[in-house]
Amino acid sequence: MASITILYMLGWGRSGGTLLGQLLGELPGFVYAGEIANVWSWSDRARCSCGAAGPSCPFWRGVFDRALGAWPDMERVLTSHSRSARLRHMPWLSLGLRTAQAKPYAEMLARVYEAVAETADAQVVVDSTRRPPEGLLLTRRGLDVRFLHLVRDPRAVAYSWSKRIKERPEGGTLAPHSSPTSTLHWVAWNLASEVLRRRRPSTLLRYEDLAHDPGAQLRRVLRELGIAGPPGPEERDLHVPPGTRFHALAGNPIRATDEPRPIEPDEEWRSRQPPHVRFLIGLATWPLLLRYGYVGRAGRRVG
Ligand SMILES: [Zn+2]
Repeated sequence: MASITILYMLGWGRSGGTLLGQLLGELPGFVYAGEIANVWSWSDRARCSCGAAGPSCPFWRGVFDRALGAWPDMERVLTSHSRSARLRHMPWLSLGLRTAQAKPYAEMLARVYEAVAETADAQVVVDSTRRPPEGLLLTRRGLDVRFLHLVRDPRAVAYSWSKRIKERPEGGTLAPHSSPTSTLHWVAWNLASEVLRRRRPSTLLRYEDLAHDPGAQLRRVLRELGIAGPPGPEERDLHVPPGTRFHALAGNPIRATDEPRPIEPDEEWRSRQPPHVRFLIGLATWPLLLRYGYVGRAGRRVG
């Protein structure tokens, strides 16, 4: 097959990855299939964002047939995944150690990404998994991986994780994280993302900038990542396309919406988050808040 490009998002959850994926997935030659490296957490009770129930989504059936010859044993893959691709393994993997243990999982991942592109007849695979270990494993398989580091104010992220989001239609919920847990992960995953970005073409995008000016930000990140092709969406496209247009098995439940939505910055945390929580998160994250422009002069527009 023709060579493909993987536009792999980095960062921590609840940072707008689904929004970004759906916007990019509308571009000609692009495919967005949710958090591809998290499909192993998918259960038979879950639905694809296209609405297909169980392992009956024709897209993913085609992907797994191409990549693996059959629908995978998700539990077995998850076990393999947990052995070889945790955040704590990254220093070893970066140094070329533990690679034999990770190799089967890395090879399988690479085949899945290639099969996603082939099934969708696309050249660019957009992935919102954001897990740094999988990003590292993909670079080790010789794939053309470009990193899009997506960050969001950690106070907003912690507020978002504090809420339960209802899954549809099975009635389950995404487990919330406490503010300390969210903040600890935000720091760790963003630091790991920074390290990974040195390996390949990469760029940084703040959720707040994307939500305020999506057309200009998408054009900028594609240009900075060196991804040729469409000029990027024009102002008239400033709506989130319905999730049912995609085949996102894993990710935020908003992926399953069936109506276009306006793009609006989610600023609820500013009025609802207790001031002492905001203060403590700011204290714990201030070096990165400064680096990403959430405090000081560069942060004025969103602060
Ligand atoms: Zn589907």
